[in-house]
This record gives sequence, structure tokens and C-alpha cells, in this order.
Amino acid sequence: MSLLQKTKAVKSKRTVSRKCTGCGLIVEKEKLLRIVRTKEGELSIDPEGYAEGRGAYICIDRECIEKAFKKNGLERSFRAGIKPEIKKRIFEEIREFERQKSGCADRNGDQSRQD
Ligand SMILES: [Zn+2]
Repeated sequence: MSLLQKTKAVKSKRTVSRKCTGCGLIVEKEKLLRIVRTKEGELSIDPEGYAEGRGAYICIDRECIEKAFKKNGLERSFRAGIKPEIKKRIFEEIREFERQKSGCADRNGDQSRQD
């Protein structure tokens, strides 16, 4: 009888929210990109969200990333400078996310034309 409860527990779909360093809004973690400071003091992207170290979250949105850089929000949360190549990589990551999203939307748009 507790089968339903069990499957729910396995999935454990608890929505965790974090504050975006860019826009300052509280957003569901899944919609955020985690940036982590490694032991070496370098910033890198942590798409899985499991890397050890001090982390910060930003919306997967170019505007938010730009805001976070402009306000030095990321630098402040990490107490470290961000190298230009890291910034570039973060932007590339965002672009990749956007490409995946829009790619799916385009295809679905075509197929869902079933009048
Ligand atoms: Zn944001």
C-alpha cells in the first residue's frame, strides 16, 4: 500500500531554491547554473552541482551573467577575481543551454502542427 509513497521518496522531487547572483531573485536550483571555486582558487562551471567548494548560482540567462559580472557579484561571493577565459567559458555554457532549449522548441513547433 505504501508503494506510491516509496516511488515518491525515490524520486525525491524537492524543489530547492537559491538566490541568483545576477538578478538577486530566488530561483529553483534546476534553473540555475552553479559556479564553484576550486581548491586552486579558480572558478569553474559545475553543471552537475556536486563539485566541492564554495558555490554561487546564476540563472541560465545571459543577462543575469552579465549583471553578475558587472556588479562583481561573483567576485564578491568568491573573494576572487574571475579570469576572462572563465567568463568566456561561462558564456559558452549559457549559449549551449540556450541552443539546446531553442533546438527542442523548434522541432516541437513543427511536429505539433496537427490541425
Ligand atoms: Zn538571475
